[in-house]
Amino acid sequence: MDSENKSVDTGKILQALVFAAHKHRDHRRKDPDHSPYINHLIEVADLLYQVGGTRDTDLLVAAVLHDSIEDTHTSPEEIRDAFGQAVLDLVLEVTDDKSLPKAERKRLQVEHAPNRSLPAKQLKLADKICNVRDILHTPPADWSPERRQEYLDWARQVVEGLRGANPALEAEFDALYK
Ligand code: NDP
Ligand code: ZN
Repeated sequence: MDSENKSVDTGKILQALVFAAHKHRDHRRKDPDHSPYINHLIEVADLLYQVGGTRDTDLLVAAVLHDSIEDTHTSPEEIRDAFGQAVLDLVLEVTDDKSLPKAERKRLQVEHAPNRSLPAKQLKLADKICNVRDILHTPPADWSPERRQEYLDWARQVVEGLRGANPALEAEFDALYK
């Protein structure tokens, strides 16, 4: 699926950016400056491209859309109609079931990580790297050092289940975690 020779469909990625920018327009990150949420989505896609080396358009599009169902009023049908079934399947693979309690969702991420598809594992890796970077550089103001450490340890547990999917991204995570 990941081939350096495969040409990326820039138009489809731009379409995803427009879609996500609109869906997340009132959504902010938890850092003290309340950064626009779209920054995170761009960072995850950029990391997959620059460090992960992916040239898989659907994976890059899914990276841009990865929090839309979980965090905005976006239906699976909207994603299927605009971007196709393969993108929807990937987004659903990385979407938590919000009807479950937080702790259970976190436990399930660890449990399910090894069974995810290869592109979903790469997307999860990139998402965790970006979140760990944020915890290290721009953490939520009200998070104690213990809570930050708890997040890093949980992220590491998820990443353990994703190993083998993308060595460059795994090395990036390991360097950060150290
Ligand atoms: P999270 O712990 O899940 O918050 C982290 C998530 O917020 C990330 O995964 C990321 O989501 C998103 N995010 C947005 N901005 C940032 C940022 N600047 N840095 C890092 N992540 C960011 O959820 P909650 O805040 O709702 O907390 C609930 C959980 O936290 C509970 O399960 C509980 O275990 C724990 N908790 C611990 C406490 C403690 O003091 N130890 C106190 C209270 C709760 P995305 O993946 O979508 O990008
Ligand atoms: Zn995310």
